[in-house]
Amino acid sequence: MKFFTKSQSHPRKGSERSSNGKGDAVMTRTTADERQADVIVVGAGPAGATAAYHLAQTGLDVLLLEKTAFPREKVCGDGLTPRAVRQLTRMGIDIDAPGWIRNHGLRIVGGGHHLELHWPELSSFPDYGLVRTRYDFDEILTNQAQKVGARLHERTAVTGPVLDEATGRVIGVRARTVDDKGRRTGDETEFRAPVVVAADGVSARLALAMGWQKRDDRPMGVAVRTYYTSPRHDDDWMESWLELWDGKPGEGKLLPGYGWIFGVGDGTANVGLGILNTSSAFGKVDYKDVLRRWLLNTPEEWGFRDHNMVGEIRGAALPMGFNRKPHYQDGLLLVGDSGGMVNPFNGEGIAYAMESAVIAAEVITEALARPDGQQRELALSAYPRALDAAYGGYYTLGRLFARTIGNPHVMKYGTRYGLPRPLLMKFTLKLLANLTDPRGGDAMDRVINAMRKMAPAA
Ligand SMILES: Cc1cc2nc3c(=O)[nH]c(=O)nc-3n(C[C@H](O)[C@H](O)[C@H](O)COP(=O)(O)OP(=O)(O)OC[C@H]3O[C@@H](n4cnc5c(N)ncnc54)[C@H](O)[C@@H]3O)c2cc1C
Repeated sequence: MKFFTKSQSHPRKGSERSSNGKGDAVMTRTTADERQADVIVVGAGPAGATAAYHLAQTGLDVLLLEKTAFPREKVCGDGLTPRAVRQLTRMGIDIDAPGWIRNHGLRIVGGGHHLELHWPELSSFPDYGLVRTRYDFDEILTNQAQKVGARLHERTAVTGPVLDEATGRVIGVRARTVDDKGRRTGDETEFRAPVVVAADGVSARLALAMGWQKRDDRPMGVAVRTYYTSPRHDDDWMESWLELWDGKPGEGKLLPGYGWIFGVGDGTANVGLGILNTSSAFGKVDYKDVLRRWLLNTPEEWGFRDHNMVGEIRGAALPMGFNRKPHYQDGLLLVGDSGGMVNPFNGEGIAYAMESAVIAAEVITEALARPDGQQRELALSAYPRALDAAYGGYYTLGRLFARTIGNPHVMKYGTRYGLPRPLLMKFTLKLLANLTDPRGGDAMDRVINAMRKMAPAA
């Protein structure tokens, strides 16, 4: 094993299938040295790009391996709460540039009510959210990581970990180059580093290769979305629908799931719905059909009809509440979706992907400043504890919440009687979006923080 200290760090070199920071593939040969790094990060989504940025900032040599090439479509609602905004500004992303659409808060629709709730005013988080299409969101984050020295290899699909034969420890990854359709284009190559970060999303290929299965006693969601050309493209509220009706609201058939309408600001709106596995409809309905039937019921002038659809309806799974553990073992750390970090209260995953990446980067930086061996291992073992401290209690509450709202009667009751009560809804927004001040907050913050602390870690 080779470990590069700050002073020994590689200068950035062109490498096979590497990118020049503008998204163009640069074809050169990779030398053995270029396949060696201090840290390998697998996957350049929000988790991987953020981890690569913070690690490279400290002077570590970081290899970021991504199976696709930017820009690329990524199935998402494109909504960013103030939690995610805080991480973006921390990375120095210019959110005043064109393409970032600000919003004031959440508009909740259900039970015959429309309620607009401003994001809370807090010292820890900004009071606005953003919408930005994932078509280039991940690329912007990755470019930022490259600017501080991370080495990106696009179209490089990781196929599994490389293990030390004696210890079983992860000492690198195997990968092969692929084309836009994921078809193999080259031989398998090994990349080596003393620490590997799995940021490969819900597929969790690396974790699975280690035998780290997902836990079925944790909530899981599935969500579908598409884009429509719509006059609602510049809405400065994120809109959430608690009831989806097939037919006239209150009279037709209540459809399963919760919907959203997020204006992307480019003439289109991102519209989608999510269903939790605590719902009896999970896995038994055609989600695309449910989306269409709900939208047929929305006003014609909003444009949510097939002839205005831009691209297909596409979906993916939402792994929630720490549904995959351990988050660290044998040289491999899980960040973001690979570790099941989507918030079970609201389906938000980007902020948690970025925050877990920050925690992982801090732990790795400390670990790599120590000699290889027991002291380094001790530093790395802090990662799962730090995650539990940050989200463990909250995700346990989220699991209970997901179970409760799986019952449609509870949800119907909550919508009817909860929505007309602004104070209760203000509390609910803070709880669901995980937006409180840890110290010096208001009474609601203190109640939520106490609940979070009292709940056992997920
Ligand atoms: C329909 C839908 C709507 C959603 N809406 C929102 C929302 O509005 N707001 C929000 O905060 N969250 C939302 N989420 C959740 C959010 O998309 C995820 O939580 C988030 O993308 C997780 O980031 P990540 O970096 O962990 O994983 P990903 O974003 O999945 O990134 C993983 C990266 O790893 C790459 N990769 C995978 N396997 C390999 C491999 N073997 N080798 C190399 N590279 C690999 C992938 O190409 C990808 O670039 C939504 C999810 C869905 C499905």
